[in-house]
Amino acid sequence: KEFKDLNLRDELLRGIQAMNFRKPSKVQEKALPLLLADPPMNMIAQSQSGTGKTAAFSLNILARVDISNPRPQALVLAPSRELARQILGVISTMGQFIEGLKTMAAIPDPTQRNKKFDAHILVGTPGTVMDMIRRRHIDVQDMRILVLDEADNMLDQQGLGEQCNRVKTLLPKGIQTVLFSATFPQNVIEYAHRFSPKANVLTL
Ligand code: AMP
Repeated sequence: KEFKDLNLRDELLRGIQAMNFRKPSKVQEKALPLLLADPPMNMIAQSQSGTGKTAAFSLNILARVDISNPRPQALVLAPSRELARQILGVISTMGQFIEGLKTMAAIPDPTQRNKKFDAHILVGTPGTVMDMIRRRHIDVQDMRILVLDEADNMLDQQGLGEQCNRVKTLLPKGIQTVLFSATFPQNVIEYAHRFSPKANVLTL
């Protein structure tokens, strides 16, 4: 399979080229047709770092964002700010040829306390994102995709899993939920099925 068989728009294929990806990785090849299906499917995927998981969920977002709508439409939750910044880097590099695309890290800026997060795609940590939604610094009404990356790592940190659930309850009902985890001990399995109901389960 080639990237061009995945029905991605031209600007995205150019972004993929800019990343120097030649062929979809296994997780990309399996996940993208399901994520991009109509209607979009929820997903629970087992994937370690190094498998191309970041690009897999990022391409789903980039393929489906409506640039003519300035409101945020996709949110990625990560267990650390460092990871959030890395994910944002991948999204903005792959999306660099999509005219008008705005992406932002949902990380508080102490110099701009009342800043609105005006971007099509937001990436952040659960506690901060929850706080920003409650203060109405993030407009959630048109959110359509919620991604939780490194769920196992998230659940190892006190309170983060619960914060992700709270964020989800603040978003529109029926949003596409996508959960990635490197490992699936029993507590992660149970959490994943609650977070991402009726999901397509992908193991590699
Ligand atoms: P990740 O699993 O998201 O941590 O990505 C691991 C590494 O694989 C990153 O350095 C990506 O740039 C790279 N990568 C992701 N997808 C592909 C691909 N289709 N072809 C080559 N490298 C890739």
